[in-house]
Amino acid sequence: MEPAGTGTEGMEPAETGTEGVEPAGTGTEGMGTEAMEPAGLEPAGLGTTGTEGIESAGMGTAGIEPAEIGTAGMNPAGLEQAGLEPAGMGTAGIEPEGMEPAGLEAPEMEPAREAEEAPGSPALPAEAPLGGPPAAAPSGEEALPAAPGRERPRERERGRCGASPQGSGGRAARGRARRAPGRRSGAESARRPGVTVDSSKAKTSLEALKISLRQLRWKEFPFGRRLPCDIYWHGVSFHDNNIFSGQVNKFPGMMETVRKITLSRAMRTMQDLFPLEYNFYPRSWILPEELPLFVAEVRMMKDRNPSWKPTFIVKPDGGCQGDGIYLIKDPSDIRLTGSIQSRPAVVQEYICKPLLVDKLKFDIRLYVLLKSLEPLEIYIAKDGLSRFCTEPYQEPTLKNLHQVFMHLTNYSLNIHSGNFIHSASVNTGSKRTFSSILCRLSSRGADVKKLWSDIISLVIKTIIALTPELKVYYQSDIPAGKPGPTCFQILGFDILLMKNLKPILLEVNANPSMRIEHEQELSPGVFENVPSPVDEEVKVAVIRDTLRLVDPQKKKRKDTQCQSLEQAPEGSEELPEAALPSLCLKQVFPKYAKQFSYLRLVDRVAALFIRFLGVKGTTKLGPTGFRTFIRNCKLSNSNFSMAAVDILYIDITRRWNSMGIDHKESGNPGMCLQAFVEAFFCLAQKKYKSLPLHDQVASLIELCECRLAALRGKRLVWGCGLAQRHRTLPASATAPGPAQPRGHQVFRLQKSSQLRALMCRDRTGS
Ligand code: ADP
Repeated sequence: MEPAGTGTEGMEPAETGTEGVEPAGTGTEGMGTEAMEPAGLEPAGLGTTGTEGIESAGMGTAGIEPAEIGTAGMNPAGLEQAGLEPAGMGTAGIEPEGMEPAGLEAPEMEPAREAEEAPGSPALPAEAPLGGPPAAAPSGEEALPAAPGRERPRERERGRCGASPQGSGGRAARGRARRAPGRRSGAESARRPGVTVDSSKAKTSLEALKISLRQLRWKEFPFGRRLPCDIYWHGVSFHDNNIFSGQVNKFPGMMETVRKITLSRAMRTMQDLFPLEYNFYPRSWILPEELPLFVAEVRMMKDRNPSWKPTFIVKPDGGCQGDGIYLIKDPSDIRLTGSIQSRPAVVQEYICKPLLVDKLKFDIRLYVLLKSLEPLEIYIAKDGLSRFCTEPYQEPTLKNLHQVFMHLTNYSLNIHSGNFIHSASVNTGSKRTFSSILCRLSSRGADVKKLWSDIISLVIKTIIALTPELKVYYQSDIPAGKPGPTCFQILGFDILLMKNLKPILLEVNANPSMRIEHEQELSPGVFENVPSPVDEEVKVAVIRDTLRLVDPQKKKRKDTQCQSLEQAPEGSEELPEAALPSLCLKQVFPKYAKQFSYLRLVDRVAALFIRFLGVKGTTKLGPTGFRTFIRNCKLSNSNFSMAAVDILYIDITRRWNSMGIDHKESGNPGMCLQAFVEAFFCLAQKKYKSLPLHDQVASLIELCECRLAALRGKRLVWGCGLAQRHRTLPASATAPGPAQPRGHQVFRLQKSSQLRALMCRDRTGS
């Protein structure tokens, strides 16, 4: 398949942020008029080879009933009535221990008293009803540092606050009024400064961000600010700016963590521990290192079931927008020359029986807010986008394998098809809202609540798989006790629905495109940016409501309890919560923490890893740290000597470092988290031979945690004893001077050097 062109959907290319060239003369045929695939919701058949996990629709989510994000309130108008059979959804729902029974009450939104809104309900009218938004100050002009104890002159925009469909804040009229410090009126100086947002690095999300800020009437700094801002909005990565305070909309290491290979590894670890819970991710192998394994496993599966005719999809690591992706029928078809060798890739089972709408394959882009890592807080947007292929779907055959417009749903690819339809309606065309699809499914009797419940489960489980790595990056970039921002991030989850409505995770995007316009060729070679209503409807709401959820002043207000949350504080120009639409983001974690906490085993392994990392700012464990971990947890014995510990460390670390993983510290020869997890699993298997893997790992974690707690306890007791003894020494002993008895001095010196060593070891996590 050809490399993708540029596009606006999918991941935002990391460096440029440029997107979206749309070819002239997009066709109008082929979409929106045909019925939903009559085959409807049959159980899919992927073969019998280790893919059974994907077959079974049950995802262990029986307890989640996201009633309010079902289809209530969706507008079915204009949807065709045809042939989708009621869902034959998955058979045995997997119900992990601790999962609550079905019928859990509908989750509430945060803040709890906000009314629920149907998916797809329009965002706040583009034009804010009152007054104008704060001004976007030109670079350099704004930053008049306030004298200590004196308020800065307030800048205000006198222009319009409304967002045209184009939503260009840059086009909004701007005006400013300034007063010298100290000449503010009493009423004005009583005003809160409002939430300040640095949008100078927002890149392609700028337009949607500007509309959101106008709707909230927050203060935008499009060229940055010398004083700190409350929020920094980055288009690409955490490191776009040097930030020491406030909040930034990116986590350090997120881009690395969701790369195709890293995600596949993290999911594999979870699949090893919890095979049934993680069967929503297709079986994957990492190339080139696992090519022999891939060949051997496929051969074995084919031997077992000769009728199995699988298809695989090869995806280069770090690729986006369909770049370099191709389908194969046999492992021998992998292109070993050129790209794969120079570029590692993931080869994955291809889902041959996707749910079709209008005979077309489509995928779902869902927006997920990771609001906090510790404690874990996750929100899901009630609406997302559905991106359609532009050629009717057929199951893969040698003849159609290369047909990109039939098999790949990437917007960036399909926009180049003559069949691509830009629609002003969110219900038709090549890009629609997810709610419009749900509405169609619902009108045909599909259980969309169950579908939402499965999607929520998929999202929570995926984030649980990603958090260990993210925490390692986080402590490295923002060490505890050092000044730094807090982070949140909007992620783009790409999900495919199987015919039986089982959601399958395709990938997670760290930088989902937040563009709300696309390019249109007016005449040959002449392009113009035109608004995309479907993008605007979904993305502006996601950004605005993300901002509302991370609003630093809301926290302050809550803390001081001096204002009602529903009202803007007196003198504030911000819109009160009550005047805004209800949140489009729904909290799912910790809301459902009870059902999913048992999955957080690797998180606990990561906590041990971080504890022994020692040097702040690193992401890799040195040999001494590993030895200290073994010693402190008392894991070595006559059968497992310290020499064997060293060999284990060297073996595993060397292998991981030779894989050429794109890691923050690729030059550091130490042990990365994933290598530590592998070593930990080895130790667990050694120690608890007869148990299943999950129990082995859980038992070893408990043992380590207990031994470390006991050690800490001992040290505390020892520390107290020492202090007491120190207090009972004669005054002459505690006051250095020539009169001190020699023996006491020696005692103090010995003990204090021991204590120093201990404290030093404690600091290094030992
Ligand atoms: P990229 O980041 O390049 O967009 P994706 O993993 O999203 O890579 O894959 C691109 C497209 O290929 C997806 O949008 C989807 O249509 C299709 N695809 C990816 N993986 C699978 C799969 N396992 N089964 C079926 N289709 C897939």
